[in-house]
Amino acid sequence: MLKFEVVIVGAGPAGLAAAYTLAKAGVEVAVFERGDHPGAKNLMGGVLYRQPTEEVLPGFYREAPLERPVVEQRLWILTEDDALTLGYRSRAFAGEPYNAFTVFRSRFDRWFGQKVVEAGALLITETVVEDLLWENGRVVGVRTGRPQGDVRAEAVILAEGVNSLLTQKAGLKKGGLQTHELAVAVKEVLALPKEKIEDRFGLEEGQGCTIELLGEATLGMMGVGFIYTNKDTLSVGVGVLLSHLVRRRLNPNDVLEHLKNHPSVRKFLAGAQPKEYLAHLIPEGGFRSIPKLYGPGLLVAGDAAMLVNGIHREGSNLALISGKLAAETLLEVRTRGGYHEKNLSRYREKLEKSFVLQDLRKYQNTSLFFNENPQFFTLYPRLLSLAAREFLTVDSVPKREKQRKIWQIITSHRSRWKLAQDLFRLWRVLG
Ligand SMILES: Cc1cc2nc3c(=O)[nH]c(=O)nc-3n(C[C@H](O)[C@H](O)[C@H](O)COP(=O)(O)OP(=O)(O)OC[C@H]3O[C@@H](n4cnc5c(N)ncnc54)[C@H](O)[C@@H]3O)c2cc1C
Repeated sequence: MLKFEVVIVGAGPAGLAAAYTLAKAGVEVAVFERGDHPGAKNLMGGVLYRQPTEEVLPGFYREAPLERPVVEQRLWILTEDDALTLGYRSRAFAGEPYNAFTVFRSRFDRWFGQKVVEAGALLITETVVEDLLWENGRVVGVRTGRPQGDVRAEAVILAEGVNSLLTQKAGLKKGGLQTHELAVAVKEVLALPKEKIEDRFGLEEGQGCTIELLGEATLGMMGVGFIYTNKDTLSVGVGVLLSHLVRRRLNPNDVLEHLKNHPSVRKFLAGAQPKEYLAHLIPEGGFRSIPKLYGPGLLVAGDAAMLVNGIHREGSNLALISGKLAAETLLEVRTRGGYHEKNLSRYREKLEKSFVLQDLRKYQNTSLFFNENPQFFTLYPRLLSLAAREFLTVDSVPKREKQRKIWQIITSHRSRWKLAQDLFRLWRVLG
């Protein structure tokens, strides 16, 4: 039977970051990936953040396959006809050390996998880990789908992504995944010549931007639409809470088509040719949905641990850092008492000290709050749009009267008391 000190399930950013950290420290480590290469199964939008990635792979952006550095982030709040737009652009984001890049994870993860192999890990692709091996109440390896596929290990890191079957099987995620903890994301990659992208999005050569879209973009459901500029393609998609889709009996593809045909969106996509269409889940339950993060001989990282910050569109960075911290925990305890559950609880402590759990704790009530307060995705975008239209329409009405009219429009849809309550609660969950 094959034997390694550590086995990792899943070659996404969490698994690869853990493997890289362990292999560099001289640990015998194997990563199992069911796809035919790392990233083969991935459809992240996606924006990769420079600083957290460098925590694992210093200087990565000089050689990794990236699309464009993100110099501008825009937010569009859509109603049926209108768009209220906000944005921030910085020259500081256009050069070193950079802030973020658009990427295709199928290319990035493949490159990262090579780095992991160069560091000394064994990467075994096209292999599904079907179960964990247990002995005397602790994990002692994994059962793969290959003939005679049992592999022994002193510790296992589950970095299997959102479909966390092994994490659930190990009893770490009690009750399984719930529809209010998951968003369904659909994404299309549309080919468009490089010059057209730069022209349409107002970008200098090689630079990129992201647009996040709320309100009508998701037909008023809790979620977000997105358009990201790649080298010669656009990533266009929507992610919507699964429980909302079920409630509204909608198909995510119809939501995406609706977004693509919005009058403010369609001109940016005109003539772009579909290249790929993908769908995936995103764990959006936040802090309250996090499973137990360790067991005897076992750690969980990344999406499998529900470590996604949906408010800030962050997932890959939480995956990378949790993978790195899982590896560092193993490195610490292997010479000091071994991979017992009590020792492995240090992993949770490390995550608590990092931005990962601090941020998720900060936003721990947002999922529930927005689920119970759909007006933030329906009524408020409409009111903001009406207010902006009224304010910007030049019609010889004195400005003070206009302000009164805007206030009347708002309060005719939502009482002052409810408005004050909503604002206060919003501040409490986000502040
Ligand atoms: C549409 C979309 C857009 C997103 N946009 C962004 C973004 O812009 N920025 C951002 O930071 N994050 C974004 N995310 C989130 C981000 O993709 C995830 O948080 C991140 O990929 C999590 O990494 P991971 O390593 O935990 O899991 P994954 O990347 O899902 O990797 C898990 C790996 O495990 C493998 N696997 C699973 N089960 C087994 C098994 N039993 N045996 C062997 N292999 C197995 C899978 O094939 C997969 O390769 C987006 C997600 C989606 C779906």
